[in-house]
Amino acid sequence: MPAETGAKRDIRALDLESLRAFFLAHDQQSFRADQVYQWLWQKGAHSFEVMTNLSKATRELLDAYFVINHIAVDRQQRSTDQTVKNAIRLHDGLTVESVLIPTETRSTACVSSQVGCSLDCTFCATSQLKRMRNLNPDEIYDQVMALDSQSRLYFDRPLSNIVFMGMGEPLMNYKNVMSAVDKITEGLAMSPKRITISTSGIPKMIEKLADENPKFQLAVSLHSAQEKVRNEIMPFSTSFDLETLLKSLQYWYHKTRSKVTFEYLIWKGINDTQEAIDALVAYAKKVPSKVNIIEYNPTDSGDFQAADQQVIERYKQALERAKITVTVRRSRGKDIDAACGQLANKLVPLDDKN
Ligand code: SAH
Repeated sequence: MPAETGAKRDIRALDLESLRAFFLAHDQQSFRADQVYQWLWQKGAHSFEVMTNLSKATRELLDAYFVINHIAVDRQQRSTDQTVKNAIRLHDGLTVESVLIPTETRSTACVSSQVGCSLDCTFCATSQLKRMRNLNPDEIYDQVMALDSQSRLYFDRPLSNIVFMGMGEPLMNYKNVMSAVDKITEGLAMSPKRITISTSGIPKMIEKLADENPKFQLAVSLHSAQEKVRNEIMPFSTSFDLETLLKSLQYWYHKTRSKVTFEYLIWKGINDTQEAIDALVAYAKKVPSKVNIIEYNPTDSGDFQAADQQVIERYKQALERAKITVTVRRSRGKDIDAACGQLANKLVPLDDKN
C-alpha cells in the first residue's frame, strides 16, 4: 500500500519474487529487485538512500511504499572476560538481548529468537518474562549483523559461530528462524556448520527440522533424563515425554548424520544422584550424541544451587566410560548477567567507557 493510502510495509517482509513483482507493476525492470535484495540481505542496508546503484526516482518510489524496520543497539555492557551484552530495541519498542562471546580463537554470537519465551523452565531467568512475540527474520539477521560488526571492531575478526541460545525457544518460532538462517548463510556467506540451534526439546518440530535437510547443529537442553525430575524443572515437558523426544532425536540423526549435543545443568538435590547419572548415560547411549555440561548461573529466583565439583566429575567419568564425548563449559559474562539463562532484560546503564 502506498504512503498516501495507509501504513508502509516493511520491505524485508517481502521475498525476492514479490519484490520483482513490485518493480514490474511499477514499470521498472525486475532486476532492480535483485539489487535491492542485495542491499537488504548482503549489505544490511537500513535506508534506501544508501542504495547508490538505484536512481533517485527508484529510491523515492521505494520510500513511498516501504520502510526498513531495523533494530537498534540500545545499551551495551562489557564483561571483565570481554563478553559483550547488548540490549536490542526492536521497531515496536520491545527489547531483547544478544551476546557476543569471544575466546582466543572464536567470536560467538548468541542471538534471541523471541521476545520473552513460550516455555517455563523454572531455572531460567528468561522464562520469567512473558512471551510477547516472535522475532521476524530480519530482527534475527540484524542481531547477527550487529554482533559481527562488534566482533570486527573489538576483536578484529568476523563472527566465527552463531548459537540460538539467547531469549526464546527457536522451534516455537520455526518459520522465522529458518528464514533467518537462510539469510545468514546465503547473504552473509556464513557456513551453516557454524550455526547451532538450541531447543528445549519439541519432538514434532525436531522431526520437521530433520526433514528439511538442515546443515546446522542441533543442541537439546536436557538437564535430566529422569521423567519426573524433568517435568518438575521444565513443566512444559509433561507434554513431551523423554521417549518421544528420544525418537525424534534418533530420527534427526538418521536424516542428518549429525550428532545432537545434550546441554546439561547439574544442581544440588535435583540431579546430583547416581540414578540421575545412570539415567543420562543410558539415554545418551541411545542416540549418537555429545554432552555439554554447563555451569549453572544463579538467577534471581534463588531456588537452585549448582552441584559440587565432585558431582560434575562423576558425571564426566561415567559418560567417558560409556564412550560419550563430554565437555564442561565454564560460563562467560556472568558478572553482567549475560550468561546462559540470565537474559532477562535487566536495564543496564549505557557505559561509554566500556
Ligand atoms: N529455549 C532454547 C534456547 C535457549 S538456550 C533452549 O532451551 O535450548 C539457553 C540455554 O541456557 C539452555 O540450554 C538453557 O537450558 C540454559 N540455561 C537456562 N537457564 C540457565 C541458567 N540459569 N544457568 C545456565 N544455563 C541456563
